Amino acid sequence: MKRIVIVGVGLIGGSFALALKANGFKGEIVGAGRSATRLQVAQDLGVIDRFETDLAEAVRGCELVLLAVPMGAMRSTLLALRSGLSDETIISDAGSVKGSFVADVRSVLANCARVVPGHPIAGTENSGVEAAFATLYQGRRVILTPLEESEPSAVAAVQALWQQTGAQVECLAVEHHDRVLAATSHLPHLLAFSLVNTLTELQEREEIFRYAAGGFRDFSRIASSDPRMWRDISLANQEALLAVLGNFQANLSQLAESIRQRDGEAIEQRFQRAKLSRDGFCG
Ligand code: NAP
Repeated sequence: MKRIVIVGVGLIGGSFALALKANGFKGEIVGAGRSATRLQVAQDLGVIDRFETDLAEAVRGCELVLLAVPMGAMRSTLLALRSGLSDETIISDAGSVKGSFVADVRSVLANCARVVPGHPIAGTENSGVEAAFATLYQGRRVILTPLEESEPSAVAAVQALWQQTGAQVECLAVEHHDRVLAATSHLPHLLAFSLVNTLTELQEREEIFRYAAGGFRDFSRIASSDPRMWRDISLANQEALLAVLGNFQANLSQLAESIRQRDGEAIEQRFQRAKLSRDGFCG
């Protein structure tokens, strides 16, 4: 490809650019977004070759555009760049929820044959282009959720780019992706935010955080993630998230009941089942 455009040059978009450059991508990488000041930082860091703040102008004549903005900004971003797209431009994204991106793209574009939604299963609790690094996707999975009408050549092009970042690419159906990610990524983030809030609301909070050891730091690390990004993800994946939250609440209530009844056997069985599962899937 001669030119790709990344809209939203933060952790995810910036790392995509850095990884491509580190792995021999020879085309031009243009950053696009709402803030010239922030895009200038990205250019100064060598993440992008140049930038545009007029999104339609940015995408005019490029082969591929990757949207790496928060979920709540996908639709307005698509509307802003739409007039610069040609029939050949491939449109992909890196958003954490696929159903809402597909709804956004279908509401904005009449023809979605060149649309290939995607989601890298990689990230950190840090945000912004300063947090981007070239090896973020190395050995990590990227899930593509092609639409019925996505052209195979467009899917192959998006797949090849992600492979060039060092990622392994797999395909899933949109709804399946959102159910699985609600359980494996979105629920744990909600639990981390809730856990830290619960402890913060306790009277003994100062002692609690003073004596918090490594385990608590590990478990709560993701509560340092960007609140606005996670607000958007929670709203965008509402249905799947409410379903898995319901399962979690039921499980927690059963545990509380076993503790109330001093049923040691039931408690141990529960913990044993969890340990066996985790030991199994974490090798
Ligand atoms: P980030 O570091 O905060 O970067 C977000 C980028 O989007 C920035 O360039 C920001 O520009 C721009 N942006 C923010 N709000 C915007 C708005 N309202 N309108 C237009 N542009 C806006 O976030 P990120 O972690 O890279 O996440 C980007 C996408 O990747 C999200 O959809 C997220 O769900 C997805 N994702 C994140 C992770 C993760 O672990 N972080 C993992 C997988 C997928 P400014 O500099 O102007 O604010």
